[in-house]
Amino acid sequence: MTSYDDADTVIFPAGAATQTSAAEAARGEWDAVVVGGGMAGSIVADQLSQAGYEVLILEAGPGKDLDLAEYESYLSRFYGAVVKDNQSPYPFNPNARMPRSTDTMPVRPDTPRDDFYLVQEDKYCTDTTFTRVLGGTSMHWEGKALRMLPEDFNLKTKYGQGLNWPLSYDDLEPYYRQAEAELGVAAEVEDQAYLGMHFPQGYVFPMHRMPPSYLDQTVARGVDGMRVNLADDDYTLQVRSFPQARNGVPNAAYDGGKGFVPVGAVSTSQVEEGERCQGNTNCVPICPVQAKYHAGKTLAKALRKGNVKIVTQAVASKVEIDEQDRRVTGITVKNYQSLASDSYETYTVKGTVYILCAHAIENARLMLASDMQRMSRSKLIGRNLMDHAYLLSWG
Ligand SMILES: Cc1cc2nc3c(=O)[nH]c(=O)nc-3n(C[C@H](O)[C@H](O)[C@H](O)COP(=O)(O)OP(=O)(O)OC[C@H]3O[C@@H](n4cnc5c(N)ncnc54)[C@H](O)[C@@H]3O)c2cc1C
Ligand code: SF4
Repeated sequence: MTSYDDADTVIFPAGAATQTSAAEAARGEWDAVVVGGGMAGSIVADQLSQAGYEVLILEAGPGKDLDLAEYESYLSRFYGAVVKDNQSPYPFNPNARMPRSTDTMPVRPDTPRDDFYLVQEDKYCTDTTFTRVLGGTSMHWEGKALRMLPEDFNLKTKYGQGLNWPLSYDDLEPYYRQAEAELGVAAEVEDQAYLGMHFPQGYVFPMHRMPPSYLDQTVARGVDGMRVNLADDDYTLQVRSFPQARNGVPNAAYDGGKGFVPVGAVSTSQVEEGERCQGNTNCVPICPVQAKYHAGKTLAKALRKGNVKIVTQAVASKVEIDEQDRRVTGITVKNYQSLASDSYETYTVKGTVYILCAHAIENARLMLASDMQRMSRSKLIGRNLMDHAYLLSWG
């Protein structure tokens, strides 16, 4: 029996047919072909499957049917790793490499390094990484689920910097609520209603805020109420909890009093592993008890409906485009036999729509490798990569 145990664990019958072979996938025509089974890809696949469409996910990394044993193998690899960086739980895959945090540094004239996967030469370099396994970077993200401030959409008008967005905070607000439900976000509206951030009357987050730690409380005693002056404006400081996509205490007032049921572990077996956050701060690179959201939770929902199939170790290598009408006609993939071998078969899969969800950097790489810059009007593919500014202190 296939069941979805709302209480904690998503359960599949053993051997659920959620995977297909690349050869099989190339025989049919899909409603949608999604490249990448990370956060964006899984949410797109889930939404399309709910609407009744047949969806194929091409995933470069390894991974099976979201097997708990596989998750456990990531944990074991992490426990045994000497260097516990944010990729340490995930297997090295020479066929679809990913950057490690030690790689994300600029190449300088006196220290030429070009053997990393991500080689950066500009003075502005990103220090971010991304993960190429089923579930994508959400497998090791921190789970901070902040909304953007209303003024972030208006930077040109307000600060004379960058460009204004064509959308406003109010346009996105209903989607933030949808995302907060999907991710399972723990926060309080009163903590988050600052600098113009607003919420519909009566809205509460799915779960209550993570309790402030001893350290949070100690810092708050020193900081709360301090006044600072920034760019001629006075502000009063207050320590606030981040909205976290980690399972906390459900808010009974959520959804008009219906409450919220946190999603725990995903599994192909009957083992109950779903847990609330235990506050041990191992979220990056992996949560031992799956209290933190990862895209596997959304994929599990999507796969349950039967109209989403995944091919893993399928590295999209080219977006095929008709030169005449500039429409995408297929995605060519290299389907590798195993992590230990570089032999692969090549297939082209076809769909009505194609959605690239391979991550900001890999999407651009794939499009550039497909000669799409030549056909693009803006010539901006792969340019102006932006990340959010942040300051982290670790102890
Ligand atoms: C350490 C760390 C902490 C973070 N913490 C936060 C946080 O707290 N809050 C926050 O909002 N964001 C955070 N982020 C960023 C966030 O994780 C990413 O923005 C998000 O996961 C991107 O989702 P995505 O679906 O676009 O890409 P990904 O999640 O990276 O998924 C891309 C998928 O595509 C697959 N793929 C790649 N190339 C190919 C190919 N050629 N063919 C087929 N498949 C391919 C990959 O294997 C992967 O499964 C963090 C990132 C890092 C590195
Ligand atoms: S249980 Fe630990 S690793 Fe998991 S979300 Fe909570 S603090 Fe992070």
